[in-house]
Amino acid sequence: MPPRRSTRQVEVGGVPVGGGAAISVQSMTNTKTTDVEATMSQIRSLIDEGCQIIRSSVPDEASVASFKEIKSRMLREGITAPLVADIHFDHRLALGAIEAGADKIRFNPGNIGPPERAIEVATAAKNKGIPIRVGVNAGSLRKEHQLPDHSHDDRNTALARALADSALWGVELLDSVGHEDVIVSAKASSVPVSIEAYRLLANECDKPLHIGVTEAGTTLTGAVKSAVGLGVLLSEGIGDTFRVSLATDPVTELGVAFNILSSLGIRRRGANVIACPTCSRCDIDLIPLAEAVELELKGVKEPIDVAVMGCVVNGPGEAREADLGIAAGKGEGLLFKNGEIIDKVPEGELLVRLREAIAELISSRS
Ligand code: SF4
Repeated sequence: MPPRRSTRQVEVGGVPVGGGAAISVQSMTNTKTTDVEATMSQIRSLIDEGCQIIRSSVPDEASVASFKEIKSRMLREGITAPLVADIHFDHRLALGAIEAGADKIRFNPGNIGPPERAIEVATAAKNKGIPIRVGVNAGSLRKEHQLPDHSHDDRNTALARALADSALWGVELLDSVGHEDVIVSAKASSVPVSIEAYRLLANECDKPLHIGVTEAGTTLTGAVKSAVGLGVLLSEGIGDTFRVSLATDPVTELGVAFNILSSLGIRRRGANVIACPTCSRCDIDLIPLAEAVELELKGVKEPIDVAVMGCVVNGPGEAREADLGIAAGKGEGLLFKNGEIIDKVPEGELLVRLREAIAELISSRS
């Protein structure tokens, strides 16, 4: 992979973003922010799954007060992950969130009224030392950057250009008051548009980029779109922090996010199950076994590769490469650990034996 694009570094509540820092994974609560209990519960779950930056929307005055309560409860509970306020339309909510202890404000300077309002937010954030994400989405583009109609020759290219221009316009506005701790995003629900918009931003500014495909969809389609979009960008060295946006429990987003990072060899968290798709050569009932192994490993946070393979064609090779692996033969399987065969196990006992081996491996590492 090419080297990561060089950017200035922005610190978000203790998490460095850009400037060579590890790519951080973030998510967003989808509870009502005014429901402090539910939001806190979701924040705990997100933290448990490795979320490093948490965002909550602040759609009204009542949410500002709840946001403040959530932030102080996080601190009381020792949750140090930054809490970001997501603001649209009303700059007074951004000002309120800054006072309420937000670690970062995400807003679109183009949909918050006259530029003076964005400037007021930027000045208040700068005075408090709080970074801002200029977050532009295709669905809420600044009026001046919206495409006139659907007849454009190359709408995707034009939309990507409009997204980048809209984001860069916001960055310039913040620059005008000396607020330089800015992260930029320009997301679309279209994968090609998102990729192109980020390529433009990567070429045309030195700010860290929060990348993502917005409104990607439900779990399967959203995970695929995110993996394709983020995979292309990350493999080009573009992207400093990201969120996988799925229409489901946000905890699911983190599993997808870490799988994307792990697939690219950027960062590992949790188990990686290598399983063959099975074919007529398969010697055991492999799919339920692979699913059971995946379930077994769900709570494991440290990196571990486990291969579950159906026959001698690719089985021994993959099993040998993994930390633990099964290469099935007729009604039985060879169990590999760190490249060595450690056991020959009847099919009915494979799961139990593998479970033991996983526990042993994890405890030997701690
Ligand atoms: S490992 Fe064997 S059973 Fe699995 S897909 Fe390959 S050839 Fe088929």
